[in-house]
Amino acid sequence: MAQKIQGTEDLYGGYMRAWQHMQDVARDLFGAYGFDMIETPAIEQVDTFVHGIGESTDVVRKEMFRVFSGALLDGLFESGSESHLKPKQRMAMRPEGTAGVVRAAVENNFVPQGAAPAKLWYAEAMFRGERPQKGRLRQFHQVGVEWLGAPDPAADAECIIMLMEFYKRLGFDPSKLRLSINSMGDANCRPAYREKVRQFIYDHKDEMCEDCLERAEINPLRSFDCKNDHCREVMKDAPLVTDNLCDECAEHYAAVKRYLDEAGVAYVEDPTLVRGLDYYTRTVFEVEALDGGVGAIGGGGRYDGLMELEGGKPTPGIGFAVGFERIALALAAQGGSLETAEPSCVYVAAASPEQRDAVFQATLALRNAGIRTESDYQGRSLKSQFKQADKLHAPYCVVIGADEVASGTVTLRDMSTHEQTSVTLDELLAQMPELMAKSRK
Ligand code: AMP
Repeated sequence: MAQKIQGTEDLYGGYMRAWQHMQDVARDLFGAYGFDMIETPAIEQVDTFVHGIGESTDVVRKEMFRVFSGALLDGLFESGSESHLKPKQRMAMRPEGTAGVVRAAVENNFVPQGAAPAKLWYAEAMFRGERPQKGRLRQFHQVGVEWLGAPDPAADAECIIMLMEFYKRLGFDPSKLRLSINSMGDANCRPAYREKVRQFIYDHKDEMCEDCLERAEINPLRSFDCKNDHCREVMKDAPLVTDNLCDECAEHYAAVKRYLDEAGVAYVEDPTLVRGLDYYTRTVFEVEALDGGVGAIGGGGRYDGLMELEGGKPTPGIGFAVGFERIALALAAQGGSLETAEPSCVYVAAASPEQRDAVFQATLALRNAGIRTESDYQGRSLKSQFKQADKLHAPYCVVIGADEVASGTVTLRDMSTHEQTSVTLDELLAQMPELMAKSRK
């Protein structure tokens, strides 16, 4: 039997409705903040991610799925066989959303000189070759936003406020979430700070793991979230970025905190919070659910240098991403759920096979009126059609027998009270939307 690839999931039924619900909540909330939806390709040139995410990151070094087009796959294609693909063109599957959106913004000039900021949100599958485990998949789904062209600290604060409101609308108890924030400095102050941390690691090299010594070479700040407990203990004495910010970055960070305070959003400052991707500058943030043990359920930050790395002109940016699968797990741990009720339908039943055509007509008419409608396609008896209607949670059945056809009416049956009324098809179409709406309450 064919099986799915390890670390991937099929989304269907209640789980699919949960993913759609998360997108509906996002569309409403992010729409109110002025964000429009974007979808970028799932495959991009490798460099889009290498430049954007950073060569030294785990995502690029270890986790990115590469695609080699037109490669000879296990002798599947005879050499010389016709293909529309360029042989061995290198591509990568999108491991995160920001680099692709920023590439699209550069390519399509979303933020021309003097224009208002571009505000975009996405709901997409992401691909990372991580070791699959609870809440860690190789294909997972994120909802995210990117706000390009806004240097103002109010944008950082609004992003964070919107994110926390998003969790609330998804059903989280805000008191069971921890929002951590930090500032990572910018091109002015971070290089000197990085150097200090590198020196600190060299000074403690006998106490640190091999990976951290390698990190000291390429990306010393990553040692703050080394998985090794001992390294983390040592790093507690390392210089803190918040003590090494330039005046502009310190002011920007102070303003972000002031706005958050004004909006009544609770946060903890974590001067060791360094997000995994290289492109962040200034504000970074992460949200953890206190129950459920699934780790971070979302995070983001400012990336003022990224547009240039993707070949554009200097343009500030800020955004976040929230993982659907982890949200579902974390919400379940709080006793909540993203799942919405199964959609209900009207069932049109034929008293005998002679009424098949009349059922066909009534079914189409109801569907054209926007009502989810089902009927029998397996030659069931009337009794078994009623059973089927119950299984589908249909609050109403429309029954058509010989008498109904003769009198140009249908019988509307309330499936909970078994009460029946005789109505014309036109009356049925006029009444049904309201009856269905009432039945959902
Ligand atoms: P990141 O892009 O790494 O900041 O991740 C943003 C969010 O996506 C995280 O907080 C998680 O909720 C989710 N996420 C990241 N990696 C995975 C993964 N491998 N499997 C499932 N969810 C993930």
